[in-house]
Amino acid sequence: MLDGAATARAIREGLREPIAALAGAGRRPGLGVLLVGDDPASAVYVRSKTRACEDLGIHHETARLPADATTADVAARVEEYNRRPEIHGILVQLPLPAPVDAPRVLDLVDPAKDVDGFHPDNVGRLVQKRPRMVACTPAGIMELLARNDVPVAGKRAVVLGRSDIVGKPMALLLLHADATVTVCHSRTRDLASVTREADVLVAAIGRAGFVRAEHVKPGAVVVDVGMNRVDDAAAAADLLPPERRAEFERKGYALVGDVHAPSVGAVASALTPVPGGVGPLTIAMLMSNTVKAAGRRA
Ligand code: NAP
Repeated sequence: MLDGAATARAIREGLREPIAALAGAGRRPGLGVLLVGDDPASAVYVRSKTRACEDLGIHHETARLPADATTADVAARVEEYNRRPEIHGILVQLPLPAPVDAPRVLDLVDPAKDVDGFHPDNVGRLVQKRPRMVACTPAGIMELLARNDVPVAGKRAVVLGRSDIVGKPMALLLLHADATVTVCHSRTRDLASVTREADVLVAAIGRAGFVRAEHVKPGAVVVDVGMNRVDDAAAAADLLPPERRAEFERKGYALVGDVHAPSVGAVASALTPVPGGVGPLTIAMLMSNTVKAAGRRA
């Protein structure tokens, strides 16, 4: 097991001192969250993030807008956070309801407060290896690999998925760490033959248990980014290791990754669990980016 939760705790502990120093100088880091609509999963994610702020003594506030908010309504809230000096980081919880022009809203976030690393300025800086704010999930995975002594330089890395928020920044970070990187997607032919070349395989596709033993080179390190809800008992019986079946019976659903843990666990040298792997790292890096933003402003 590659223990993402333990690495996330270590990252968070490392933030206490800089937060105390900033707060002592009257510059407590502050995170402004924007939550639009009533998607229950988004509400859960926002709660985990604001709870992490409370644990660390980071100021946080959440602006809530109804599901029928317009692009102009959402933009106005972003601009308000941009103007306020005590807000150092802005988090626009995705997905935004369909009528809202999400790219336009994200482009309005002040790049210096863009703690999600989604603004084109920050993405461009990452491409040029001059990073400022880096997307939290891939940044957290790099911390996980580094802090657990997983070598990357000179290794073959395969990233499964090419989204703007995970796959693409992940590939760039691995490239900058001197891995030889291949990115796969839904149009990749003979996927298993490509993924089997990976010494480090990162799966971020949003398909429960898609990556099976035949996709993985024996001894590879596998990072499972996927977060998929399974409600079907037959699917759960296939996807869950025996020790998690009781949890499914109790709750009527379970969260699983993109990796079929029971079979891949037997082939890989290390695998991140779901839940408790990449998720906590993402939150830890959001805290880290907020502290960084406050420090830069100071
Ligand atoms: P996304 O925007 O839906 O992108 C999915 C990517 O996977 C796309 O590039 C798609 O290819 C590719 N793909 C889909 N089906 C495929 C298949 N059968 N074979 C090969 N490639 C396939 O997803 P995302 O936002 O990157 O998220 C991916 C997963 O990670 C989701 O489960 C999400 O919930 C999870 N996630 C977790 C965290 C965390 O903190 N734990 C953070 C972010 C995301 P095309 O480009 O060709 O369509």
